[in-house]
Amino acid sequence: MAAVPSLERAVAGIKTRATINFLRDSPKKLLINGQWVAAKSGKTFESINPANEEILALIAEGDKADVDAAVTSARRAFDESKWSSITPHQRSRYLYKIADLIEQNADQLAELESLDNGKPLAIAKLADIPGAARTFRYYAGWPTKIYGETNPSDPSTFNYTIREPVGVCGQIIPWNFPLSMASWKVAPALACGNTIVLKPAEQTPLSAIRLGELIQEAGVPDGVVNIITGFGPGAGSSIAEHPDVDKVAFTGSTEVGKLILQASAGNLKRVSLELGGKSPNIIFRDSDLEAAVQSATRGVFFNSGQVCTAGTRIFIEQPVYDEFVERLIEQSEKMTVGDPLDEKTRLGPVVSREQFDRVKSYLEIGKGEGAKVATGGEAVPGAGYFVRPTIFAGVHNQMRIAREEIFGPVGAAIAFKDEDDAILQGNDTTYGLAAAVWTRDVSRALKVARALKAGTVWINTYGGADPISPFGGYKQSGFGRELGVHSLDLYTQIKSVYVKL
Ligand code: ADP
Repeated sequence: MAAVPSLERAVAGIKTRATINFLRDSPKKLLINGQWVAAKSGKTFESINPANEEILALIAEGDKADVDAAVTSARRAFDESKWSSITPHQRSRYLYKIADLIEQNADQLAELESLDNGKPLAIAKLADIPGAARTFRYYAGWPTKIYGETNPSDPSTFNYTIREPVGVCGQIIPWNFPLSMASWKVAPALACGNTIVLKPAEQTPLSAIRLGELIQEAGVPDGVVNIITGFGPGAGSSIAEHPDVDKVAFTGSTEVGKLILQASAGNLKRVSLELGGKSPNIIFRDSDLEAAVQSATRGVFFNSGQVCTAGTRIFIEQPVYDEFVERLIEQSEKMTVGDPLDEKTRLGPVVSREQFDRVKSYLEIGKGEGAKVATGGEAVPGAGYFVRPTIFAGVHNQMRIAREEIFGPVGAAIAFKDEDDAILQGNDTTYGLAAAVWTRDVSRALKVARALKAGTVWINTYGGADPISPFGGYKQSGFGRELGVHSLDLYTQIKSVYVKL
């Protein structure tokens, strides 16, 4: 196999041989029925390092014909009960093994994630990769605990329920936390006995491809997990439309979520959608302002702001507004922007040229709407898609920069009068993924947390998810809850059995 000519420049700074060897083996292929195969069309696309705009690898461009083959493979694996009918203990062991393999290959996975997505390597090592292992390990515990019920039926009848897998699951994931998002989808689906066609985002396919190899190494039977790389229209839409896919799980933009829902109507697939957000982070004047300002900065800039739960609307109680914005500026300016491989870097580039242009356009929109650039407000000149951490002050909740998801390192500081006003403004959004409230008053914290219409609420902290607890959206942030016991509802269906005695 020939590596892409720019590989050396694309991976400059990478030490791990395994990472370079993985990338040398290009073009990357599709995983169908346990075999790595080229796309039937023979087409490939480029995966780009957003920090230097060099090509990392060529990737098979799967489309409808490949999705058909992957679904056939997943269907066969499901119907032949290669997965659902092995003992729950054995299924657990496979999942534990995948978690172990993720940990054993953590350095390589972190490097692939950083190269492909642009996120700081240190953060990939600290958060993304251990998080993915933790999710597999959490769901490894579930196969042996998926109970049914016996019901208080008529004495002449015995009635019980069984939770059975849904079948073939199409899983379409985004580019912001590639491995982590794959783990949130693949681990519970496998735990419940389903088979899978996974489509990583075209911007960041590498860690999912490596995960496919690790799943094979763990000994998961052929055809249980199939991976189709490719674009949204083509690969993604073919999964969403496919008449033999029983369930589709999607994480991505609200706009595409609506397309998935429409496409899934043909065979009435079960659908779960985890979509966008414009989350309020509400800071009352009695809160620990130092902790709040540090957390708010991370809340808006973590992963270069490319987080569906990013706390992009920072609501600050009027009397401390000016002081808080000053402190936000100070903290934002401490966020070192630069080479993701440098240990000191806190903010890498945004993921792609498209995203770069989009974020820059919002910087202009904000300025045009009359918001004040408190800090940042521009791209960093030179190669790579770097944007300075930006805080807009004097923002009104009706401005586009306060209503539309930017998905970049851009926060809006908005003043509020009192508790009612904070709740009113916080909830005045089409989204409802996450929210936070900062105060030392326990009653107020709990009252506001109850009033906020969001799937996750943090009190005196911002960000973070744990596989033990459900995650998902209110309103146009989607429906269905992933993680925790709640994923079992997404990946099982219930059968009620009546026995005449
Ligand atoms: P973003 O706008 O942040 O790139 P998207 O919602 O477009 O996020 O993408 C998330 C995932 O959805 C990616 O894997 C992408 O390829 C896929 N996707 C995009 N468009 C479609 C579509 N029409 N049907 C199915 N999947 C799609």
